[in-house]
Amino acid sequence: MRVAVVGGGIAGLSAAFHLAQGGAEPVVLEGSPQVGGKLRRERLGDLTIDVGAEGMLARRPEATDLTHAVGLGDDIVAPEPIPSLVWSRGQLRALPPTIMGVPSDLGALASSGLLQRPLASHAAPVPDEDVSVAQFVADRLGREVVDRLVEPLLGGVYAGYADRLSLQAAAPVIASLGPDLLAGARQRASEPKPPGPALVGLRGGIGRLPQAVVDVGGFEVRTGATVRGIRRDGSGWELVVGPTTAATRERFDAVVMAAPAPAASRLLAEAAPRAAFALAGLDYASMVVVGFLLEGADLPSGTGFLVPPVESTQIKAATFSSRKWRWLAESAGGATVVRTSLGRVGETATLQRDDATLVDLALSDLRSIVEPAGTVGSVSATVVQRWGGGLPQYEVGHRDLVRTVTDDVATVPGLEVCGAAYEGVGIAAVVATGRAAAERTLAG
Ligand SMILES: Cc1cc2nc3c(=O)[nH]c(=O)nc-3n(C[C@H](O)[C@H](O)[C@H](O)COP(=O)(O)OP(=O)(O)OC[C@H]3O[C@@H](n4cnc5c(N)ncnc54)[C@H](O)[C@@H]3O)c2cc1C
Repeated sequence: MRVAVVGGGIAGLSAAFHLAQGGAEPVVLEGSPQVGGKLRRERLGDLTIDVGAEGMLARRPEATDLTHAVGLGDDIVAPEPIPSLVWSRGQLRALPPTIMGVPSDLGALASSGLLQRPLASHAAPVPDEDVSVAQFVADRLGREVVDRLVEPLLGGVYAGYADRLSLQAAAPVIASLGPDLLAGARQRASEPKPPGPALVGLRGGIGRLPQAVVDVGGFEVRTGATVRGIRRDGSGWELVVGPTTAATRERFDAVVMAAPAPAASRLLAEAAPRAAFALAGLDYASMVVVGFLLEGADLPSGTGFLVPPVESTQIKAATFSSRKWRWLAESAGGATVVRTSLGRVGETATLQRDDATLVDLALSDLRSIVEPAGTVGSVSATVVQRWGGGLPQYEVGHRDLVRTVTDDVATVPGLEVCGAAYEGVGIAAVVATGRAAAERTLAG
C-alpha cells in the first residue's frame, strides 16, 4: 500500500515510521527544503542550537519511545533541576510550585510576592460545557492568579491568552483538580511522582530527532514537494505535487494529512468538506525565537523566566539554555546561550520586523529584566527564527472542532489526519497522533 504523508514535521514522520514498520510504503511529501517542521536546529556562532521545540514530555511514552526506536535513546538528557522565574511588577521572582498555574504551596506563593491581594478561594463544580481557562480559574481563585500565574505558563505552551483558550482542550489538568482548585492542587502535588524528569531533551538538540527518524525509518522522503491538490480517484487518491511551474500528478492508495490546519483545510475542501470548514476556523499564534550567544554574562539563578502578558514587554519568555542543558554549556565553553521568544496570537506584526530590529527589541527587554540582578554581558552571535503559524490555538469548543474533523474524515476511505492541531501541541502528543493515524491506515 503506497501512502502519501503530507507534511514532514514530527507528526508526518511518526506516521511514516509506523506505516513502514507495518509493511506499507509511505512517501513523505514535505513542502519546505527540510523535514522536521517546528523541530529545527540552526547555527549560533560556532554552536548549533534548537530554534523551535527544545524539550519533550517524558511522562508519556510516545516521543521517548520513538527516540529510542531511532537509536537516540542514549542521548536523552534531563534538564538541570533548577526552577524557572517570573518577571512581575519590576522583579524576577521565583515561580512557586503550581499545577499549570494553580498554586499548590501557599507558603511559597506568599514568599514569591507574585500576588498583591490575598488569595480568595471559592469552590464551584466543574461545568459540563467548555469554558475559557481564565473564566474557570478567575471564578474560583480571582483574576490575579490568572494574570500572574496561569497566563505565563499557558503562554509558554500556546503563545495564547487564557481568556480564549479552552479549559477542556488546553488545560484539562486544571479541570481535573475538581471544584476546589487549591485543595486539588495541594493533593496532586503530594501524590508520588513517577521516577525521572517530567521533561527531557536530546544531547545536541531535539532538532536531531526528525533526521534520525528518516535515517532509520526506511521510507521515501521528498523535500521541496508541496502538495497542491488532493482528490479521490477510484479506490485511491490523486495528488498534485511540486512547484507550480513543474507540478506532477501521482497516485496513492491512502493519504495521511500531517500538514497544519490552514494547509489541511485547503487540501481537504473537496474530499472532506466539513472537516475542511472546521479546520479553517483554527487560529494559530505566530512567534519569533531570538537566540543570543553572550560573553561575560552573569544571569540570575534560574533556567529562565516567563513574562505575564499584563507586563506588556516584547519578550514573553527567555530560557537560559546553557544553564538548562548541560550539553550546551559544555559546547559553549565559558559563553552563555539565551533563547528569547516574542509574539503571541494576534501579534503578526512582530514577524514582519527585520532581524536587526527583533534582536534589538529582545536584547533591550532582556537587559532591563536581567540587569538589576545580573549582567547580560556582550553579544557575540545571534540567530533569529520566525515561526509563522507556530502554535494552534485550542480555543473554547476545540474538542467539538476536532470531533467534527475526525467524524468527517472517518467517512472517507483511505484518509487520516494527524498533527498539532488535534490532541495536544507537545511533541509527545503529536507523535501519538501520527502513530494512531498510521495504525488506522494499516487497519483500513
Ligand atoms: C517556537 C516553538 C517552540 C516549541 N517548543 C516545544 C517544546 O519545547 N516541547 C514540545 O513538546 N513542543 C514544543 N512546541 C510545539 C511542537 O514543536 C509542535 O506542536 C510540533 O512540532 C508540531 O508538529 P507537526 O508535525 O504537527 O507540525 P509541523 O512541525 O508544523 O510540521 C508540518 C509540516 O508540514 C509541511 N507542510 C505544510 N503544508 C504543506 C503542503 N501543502 N505540502 C507539503 N508539506 C506541507 C510544513 O512545511 C511542515 O514541515 C514548540 C513550537 C514552537 C513553534
